[in-house]
Amino acid sequence: MVLEASPPSCDANRSRDVGGIVLGIESTAHTFSIGWVDGLGVPGKSISAFVRPVKGGIHPREAADHHAERAGGILAQLLDEEVDINQVKAIAFSQGPGLGPCLRIGASVARSLATKLDVPLVGVNHCVAHIEVGRERCGCDDPVLLYASGGNTQVIARLDGRYRVLGETLDIGIGNMLDKFAREQGIPFPGGPKIEQLANQWLEDNPEASLEGLELPYAVQGMDLAFSGILNAALNLVEKGKPLEAVCWSLQEHAFAACVEVAERAMAHAGKSELLLGGGVACNERLRGMCDTMSKDRYSTSHVPIKPLCVDNGSMIATLGRLQLLWGEPTQLNDSGVRQDLRTDETPILWN
Ligand code: AMP
Ligand code: MG
Repeated sequence: MVLEASPPSCDANRSRDVGGIVLGIESTAHTFSIGWVDGLGVPGKSISAFVRPVKGGIHPREAADHHAERAGGILAQLLDEEVDINQVKAIAFSQGPGLGPCLRIGASVARSLATKLDVPLVGVNHCVAHIEVGRERCGCDDPVLLYASGGNTQVIARLDGRYRVLGETLDIGIGNMLDKFAREQGIPFPGGPKIEQLANQWLEDNPEASLEGLELPYAVQGMDLAFSGILNAALNLVEKGKPLEAVCWSLQEHAFAACVEVAERAMAHAGKSELLLGGGVACNERLRGMCDTMSKDRYSTSHVPIKPLCVDNGSMIATLGRLQLLWGEPTQLNDSGVRQDLRTDETPILWN
């Protein structure tokens, strides 16, 4: 398959109508969400439910039970408020990567719906969906993606017809690191927004704040990152009596700087002049600001979709499902098994 010959532009994708609505079902981890795009790829509202573990991390089986319990209600609400079922032309779902039991709930809902409505089924790669919804919505063509979410932290760029992971976390995702730190302080999931709020509070109260005495390990290894060391060191600082707000600020400064450093190196190596942010941590204003500054310094541009499209959501799955439907083949039922370990570069880019 020749992937790069006469690639259609983003604009060409936008002007092609699939003739109806594509539904997208997301269930890779803590979120169960159904969203949609119209025939031209304009996203509608996603309706979502989140697992919020009171103690400990996400338990895959419990999360799957949550998704199974909520799926029917979410679908009913979507059909009631957002989508005319007669206009649905295809069902897209996250085929991977993610937690097996959670993925299987979304896949089962998708298969049942596609069969019942007699419309094509389209299995999509969750990580690639973050890129495509960003490209479509922000109008950037060939970005380096800094994908900073709960379970994933990757720096991705398109090279030779595939999205390649140029750097990634070697242990936990940056969002998981923030959530774990928060949990130890009694802050419920998701911890990232509260950490951002506390960090802002510290800066407001201490406009001349310094990182002296608040240093944390900075784990960039070549193009890869690691977050467990920074997590343990931040927990130690709180134990030693440093103010929680100050540690939250330091944690953001160190962890985000590491991500931005790898993203910048990726832009330099891959010769790209656009940066795109995705994943739930991309909701953070400080991370957005750092990306902006770095991009301006490189005479490049930084892009980020609206917050509901940064976190895991059904509309981004529908966005990629529509593109695959336009440029590829639907997924046959016997190929629709979930792929827990699906890699970003396993998905051929049939569209541009
Ligand atoms: P996702 O896995 O992409 O759905 O994103 C969820 C992750 O994003 C969780 O780890 C959250 O703590 C994190 N998150 C959401 N909002 C923010 C924020 N404003 N700052 C930092 N992290 C955030
Ligand atoms: Mg995600």
